Amino acid sequence: MSAEPTVEGLAQELSTYLDTNRINQVRRAYYYAEQAHEGQMRKSGDRYITHPLAVARILAELKLDHQSLMAAMLHDVIEDTGIPKDALAEQFGEDVAELVDGVSKLTQIEFRSRAEAQAENFQKMTLAMARDIRVILVKLADRLHNMRTLGPMPYEKRQRIATETLDIYAPIANRLGMHSICTELEDLGFSSLYPMRAKYISKAVNKLRGSHREIIEEIRGRLQEKLEERGLPGRILGREKHLNSIYNKMKFKHKSFHEIMDVYAFRIITDTEDDCYRILGAVHSLYKPLPGRFKDYIAMPKANGYQSLHTTLFGMHVNIEIQIRTEEMEHIANNGIAAHWMYKNEPSNVTSVNQARVDRWVKGLMEMRERADDSLEFIEHVKVDLFPDEIYVFTPKGRIMELPSGATPVDFAYAIHTDIGNAAVACRINRNLGSLSQPLQSGQTVEIITAPGARPNPAWLSFVVTGKARSSIRHVLKTQKRAESLELGRTLLKKSLKGFGTKLADISDGQKQAVVNHNQVNSFDDLVSDIGLGNRMAYLVARQLVNGAEGTEAATVEAGRPADRSPVTIRGTEGLLVKFASCCKPIPGDPVVGVMDSGNGMVIHSDTCSRLPEDDEGRARLTHLKWAKDITDEFSVELRVELERQRGVIAELANAVAMADGNIERISVEDQNAKFGIVSLVVHVNGRRHLARVMRRIRNIRAVTHINRVRH
Ligand code: MN
Repeated sequence: MSAEPTVEGLAQELSTYLDTNRINQVRRAYYYAEQAHEGQMRKSGDRYITHPLAVARILAELKLDHQSLMAAMLHDVIEDTGIPKDALAEQFGEDVAELVDGVSKLTQIEFRSRAEAQAENFQKMTLAMARDIRVILVKLADRLHNMRTLGPMPYEKRQRIATETLDIYAPIANRLGMHSICTELEDLGFSSLYPMRAKYISKAVNKLRGSHREIIEEIRGRLQEKLEERGLPGRILGREKHLNSIYNKMKFKHKSFHEIMDVYAFRIITDTEDDCYRILGAVHSLYKPLPGRFKDYIAMPKANGYQSLHTTLFGMHVNIEIQIRTEEMEHIANNGIAAHWMYKNEPSNVTSVNQARVDRWVKGLMEMRERADDSLEFIEHVKVDLFPDEIYVFTPKGRIMELPSGATPVDFAYAIHTDIGNAAVACRINRNLGSLSQPLQSGQTVEIITAPGARPNPAWLSFVVTGKARSSIRHVLKTQKRAESLELGRTLLKKSLKGFGTKLADISDGQKQAVVNHNQVNSFDDLVSDIGLGNRMAYLVARQLVNGAEGTEAATVEAGRPADRSPVTIRGTEGLLVKFASCCKPIPGDPVVGVMDSGNGMVIHSDTCSRLPEDDEGRARLTHLKWAKDITDEFSVELRVELERQRGVIAELANAVAMADGNIERISVEDQNAKFGIVSLVVHVNGRRHLARVMRRIRNIRAVTHINRVRH
């Protein structure tokens, strides 16, 4: 066991920038976590609490606010000790609980795929999931400490964590401008993944450092002299190359170790922007600058806010790289977004003030994107966090899909493939059955369940948000409507032709063409489709086909209309163009008729429905229908039950319906007094016989005094 750092040591550090009250809150979080993790040990043999404490210390170095530090103390409590978020909210407030919850959610994501493109998306998703940027800061500190203490872990786990660190967390730190954490993560990740290479490079670096020491000191001395000569303030730092960056340059830029290392790098940190330019002049007068190597990132900052002057000099027979910047620029270059979040003694409401500061920073970045020399990538990614308008979800195989916020499983299905969307019938969200219409959230795993022959539901159009889903659904519905209108139209036309004593097969192409021309449509199919849609009467088209298109202008519907009593068979599953009237709710067994509704196909009514036309002309336009024999679908029917009020009677009612194999869609008490009540019941049945059984069961209940089927 190593000597444990203590919370008092941390409190000491915090006293440099936090007040006593806030330090005490951090202490309280520490003791709470210590108790929660009681008995848990790290692989190293240290008590578990040493880890959260170390994470908090990393954040204290960045001078983060007390809530971030409390969240650091508690960051593994939800995940590892099963204490719920609510309990934390009660103890430490909503903000801290939210932070801990956010960190836990990030911890739960499994970074399954290592592909390049995936890593990019994982980075985005990580940012998108953390509404509060402090979640990321705590997570980065957590990862940094885990990387520092990776040693005792088994090989496999070390490899996995190191790869994830290099693929996901180091780039995030880089995006957020947190250079110090980024390079440490990279070096630790590199050393764990390639211990031999790391050892070789670091040995070589140490050796070179020895042989270079003289020349480095020489250059540093001359630079120092020059600054003093001109009365310019500034401290000069030698810059070390990082293992990971040396390795990458060797591997990807095919440079030799010596080519990379034979560059002498210094950084000069000074007081003001003006001093930066004066120092630049001074060093240019000392050694000759290499043409084309000067960069002014002060006037034109990098997209992540980085500011500095860069120049390369040639002197002492070597290249000398020099960066010149102010303390403030140095601080931002190392700590990035954390520098902006840094706790400064704000009077009240630290969180919103800091958030405002970060917002301002991002806004500033966006404003300068016109002149930013770097890609807009970083802005794009921070934007995801602060203006979350995108979500990232997983396919069951771990692929990430990017969708607009508000997207539903149907959008997801169409994003994967049009065929998946078209055949979707249900979905699983994080392995549980979910609704196809519920908006998805970042980090969820979504699985679409399809069925062969399934079709998009027109109702989907009311909730999908992506253009692809919308246009695909519209396209299918249009195609489907066309196919169905042709089928229904053909059925109706055949029936009418039968009334004239002929068959569609007996009509010649010439006759068809004449009718097509007469009606000014493009094709015979269009004519048939119009019949199915209810835009044309089958009877009129049939008569034109039989009598010839000409000379029928004066004819009226009734004149010479032949007896045409053979009914059309319906099954109730015809699709978009055959609907059941909601007024009379016909069920199989009821005598029914079809009414053509212009543009929408046929509506089926009970033949006693009060909404049907009463005059002869209207009646003549109805289509006679009969039910198919083998209908298995269910139809809803409304019942009105009068009963004496007594305990348990509703349950008895429901039970009676169930005993008769009926399904209750809705049950409601319409009207009641002390003694009597009226109950409205919507039940699914497959026909009149089934309905009769249901009604008989209900009638047998002692309390029921009257029952009837309701038709509006
Ligand atoms: Mn942790």
